[in-house]
Amino acid sequence: MSQTLQAVRGMNDILPVEAELWEQFEESVRDWLGAYGYRPIRMPMVEPTPLFARAIGEVTDIVEKEMYSFEDALNGESLTLRPEGTASCVRAVLQHNLLYDGPKRLWYMGPMFRHERPQKGRYRQFHQVGVEALGFSGPDIDAEQIAMCARLWDDLGLEGIRLEINSLGQSEERARHRAALLAYLEQHHEQLDADAQRRLHSNPLRILDTKNPAMQALVEAAPKLIDYLGEESIRHFEGVQQLLKDAAIPYRINPRLVRGLDYYNLTVFEWVTDQLGAQGTVCAGGRYDGLVAQLGGKPAPACGFAMGIERLLALWQDQGHRHEAPVPDAYFVHQGEAAGRFAFRVAEALRSAGFSIHLHCGGGSFKSQMKKADASGAPIALIVGDDETAANQVSVKHLRSGFDQPAEQVRVSFDELADHLGDILFPLEDDNGNL
Ligand code: ATP
Ligand code: MG
Repeated sequence: MSQTLQAVRGMNDILPVEAELWEQFEESVRDWLGAYGYRPIRMPMVEPTPLFARAIGEVTDIVEKEMYSFEDALNGESLTLRPEGTASCVRAVLQHNLLYDGPKRLWYMGPMFRHERPQKGRYRQFHQVGVEALGFSGPDIDAEQIAMCARLWDDLGLEGIRLEINSLGQSEERARHRAALLAYLEQHHEQLDADAQRRLHSNPLRILDTKNPAMQALVEAAPKLIDYLGEESIRHFEGVQQLLKDAAIPYRINPRLVRGLDYYNLTVFEWVTDQLGAQGTVCAGGRYDGLVAQLGGKPAPACGFAMGIERLLALWQDQGHRHEAPVPDAYFVHQGEAAGRFAFRVAEALRSAGFSIHLHCGGGSFKSQMKKADASGAPIALIVGDDETAANQVSVKHLRSGFDQPAEQVRVSFDELADHLGDILFPLEDDNGNL
């Protein structure tokens, strides 16, 4: 026997029980985004490789080592499975000139691909909800995006996700800080690990983002970007903080928060939990005013964030939440050939009337079918045999207590069945579905 094939390492199947939870989450997300006026956009999963090199930056983990890139066999073009959504979203906005009539609030959701070492909370195919606001320059949109996140955690019943913010200022401010940082790091060259030594001249800011415990003291004492901000950057940062205070959203300024992607400026933020081990960042984002121009568009400010769905749902489950598996309104049991055809027809009619019906398929004894009916969680079993079929009737049996109906089995004619079921399942509604 040949070995069964396995999924690619770090790329997960989402099985029905999980997938139902995902759908429930996606529904909450849609409602939540709608309440803030965000509209959906869907981009391809594959993009020309230079898009990411240009948008994310050459000297970043993603572009240096995490991208799934390949050559198109037909024309040799280098293509890449998207490692994140912002670059594609901005590309789409520019390609279709979406900013022609003013700013836009956009969101998307879907798989992203990064060639990382798989571990809990870190996968090679993972999923993000991405939220981007293009054309807004004030601190209000930054604060609104942060407040949005706080509301979603609340909607989902998530606790203990703390907010860290920082300002990366503007490029001149970063340049002055970079010079000071470089001088400091060169002074302590012997304490830098290999990664940091390699990045010293290409991207010293990223050294502050190191996860190497041996370098924590060194980066802790390094010159802080926040001390190099100019007046306007400070005013923007204070504007964000004021609105967060007004909204009673607690935050901590983390001067070492620099984000993994190169395109950020001014506000950056992360939502972090201690409950998921090393992969504790569930959501991250900030302002990226330079990206639109960098991708060839007329300069436009922008601000956005992305959340990792796997990490959020893991946290949701770790905090004791369970989603309810859907149950059908009725499980349909039938015995005999004519009864099988009758049941099929009745089940379709009931679905047309709006009921969810689990029709038994695959035969089996009456007893084994009733066991399945019970296991389905349905409150009602519908039963037909030769007798019922000949009389154009269906037997209705209650499987759960708690209904204001006699517990015994009753026979109902086909014509009256939908009304009868409606009275049992929705006793307080009138015939038009109103309470
Ligand atoms: P990390 O520091 O954990 O590698 P990142 O800075 O690379 O995260 P972003 O590019 O900002 O992450 O992506 C936003 C969010 O997407 C992260 O906060 C996280 O929740 C999620 N995420 C990123 N990479 C992965 C991954 N490989 N597997 C699962 N979720 C991920
Ligand atoms: Mg990463």
